[in-house]
Amino acid sequence: MAKPDYIKAHEFSSNHRSQVASSERCGCFHCLSVFQPTEIREWIKEPQGGETAICPKCGIDSIIGSNSGFPITKQFLSAMSDYWFSSGQQEASTEVEGVRSEWDR
Ligand SMILES: [Zn+2]
Repeated sequence: MAKPDYIKAHEFSSNHRSQVASSERCGCFHCLSVFQPTEIREWIKEPQGGETAICPKCGIDSIIGSNSGFPITKQFLSAMSDYWFSSGQQEASTEVEGVRSEWDR
């Protein structure tokens, strides 16, 4: 089954320094900002040897460049944000609640 674009695009959100630097623009799917790659001031080194951009607006490593082939639009970034941030965090906190009530008994 084919994955939706907002899932596939996540592969391009790390180890992507040369791709992001050569992109016309890039976007953050955490704070939904769109900006020029030249605005990126921080890169983190990955254990595999690549480098990952840090968002100059919110400080999260959730940036994709236009050279990934995906649309750098608010709409696309918010679809990614919904999938990678909102739903995941809700599931995680529900699990923690469940564990806690087990212990209280
Ligand atoms: Zn951001």
